[in-house]
Amino acid sequence: MRIAAAGLTAFVRDIFIGEGCAPEEAERIGRYLVAANLTGHDSHGVIRVPRYVAWLREGEVVAGRTPEVVSDTPAFALIDAHYGFGQTAGPFATDLGIARARANGVAIVALRHAGHLGRIGEWAEQAAAAGLVSVHFVNVAGSLLVAPFGSVDRRYSTAPFAAGFPVAGGEPIILDFATSAVAEGKVLVASQGGKPLPEGVLIEPDGRPSQDPRTLFGPYDGTAERDNRRGAGAIRAFGEHKGSGLALMCELLAGALTGSGTAGPGPKRFCNGMLSIYMTPEAFGSADAVATETRTYLDFFKSARPAAQGGEVLLPGEPERRTRAQRLAEGVPLPDPVWATLLEAGRPHGLDGETYRG
Ligand code: NAD
Repeated sequence: MRIAAAGLTAFVRDIFIGEGCAPEEAERIGRYLVAANLTGHDSHGVIRVPRYVAWLREGEVVAGRTPEVVSDTPAFALIDAHYGFGQTAGPFATDLGIARARANGVAIVALRHAGHLGRIGEWAEQAAAAGLVSVHFVNVAGSLLVAPFGSVDRRYSTAPFAAGFPVAGGEPIILDFATSAVAEGKVLVASQGGKPLPEGVLIEPDGRPSQDPRTLFGPYDGTAERDNRRGAGAIRAFGEHKGSGLALMCELLAGALTGSGTAGPGPKRFCNGMLSIYMTPEAFGSADAVATETRTYLDFFKSARPAAQGGEVLLPGEPERRTRAQRLAEGVPLPDPVWATLLEAGRPHGLDGETYRG
């Protein structure tokens, strides 16, 4: 099925109002989840609604929390989200980073104990729209999913990395990926009838490569909630030893340094930590000089010949922009099992999802 972004956002908003969130927070949850769907990252879109509802009911994430700045110097701030929604803490931290970098040229903002921050590229996009370069290291406390290079045991979260680079007079470069071979959400999507996983992105305890979501979730059926603690295997880190090393740095920078907590060991309360660096081009001398060199280099980059006939060399951020344009025009596609979970989430609040389809 397909549904227009506005209708889907309103449906998700109303589900979270029904669950006790203030309308502004519920709207943000809807808007950022649907924004992830619009970029094509369905793994971080509305498929998350049942899990967010469960976390809210269990007290794992708390509605209405105001992020607190607990350590503050002109070019550095440490924010504690106190397990409030990532859709509230994420924009708060990014706005603060933008304001501080504008005042000081550069700023480091550390965010700890945030609820799920969703698609991290969202925050890089927000900074780039304000004319800032940004770099984001992220981890997930209490989420052991990924085996380091050379291992079958889970030691990392999917620890994403993102960077944004504004381009004067053009679209920004947005690089944004999980340091796992696939994001957990992509395993979730595959388990619910979405895009199948590529070969060898998971690993069984005996070292055999796998592409079966059951390696991560254990046996499941239908719309049953997926639980990544039930699987015996792990997701592999991307990029062999190099990606595995970047994942380690995400755990250390976003988890250990911020005080948010690393992926393990032992049971921990689920939260995202994020260490972000914000930079204004002006802080490096002339913004015009940066713009000229960037433009020249990107033209040079784009002139690289495709390896395959009919192929295309894309800049990071281009695939998401194309998908967004298409989905804004045609609606957000949702597999039937995902739509079924949304209808179910609306029912206790007297919401009929079908009425949001316009
Ligand atoms: P992915 O593998 O789809 O990679 C996306 C990146 O690669 C983007 O920057 C995209 O522009 C670029 N890209 C894609 N195809 C390209 C091409 N042909 N040429 C050039 N560049 C190309 O991403 P992923 O690892 O599956 O991550 C998905 C999302 O999951 C991300 O948004 C990430 O932030 C999010 N995530 C969040 C958490 C969390 O805890 N909040 C954890 C893990 C992942």
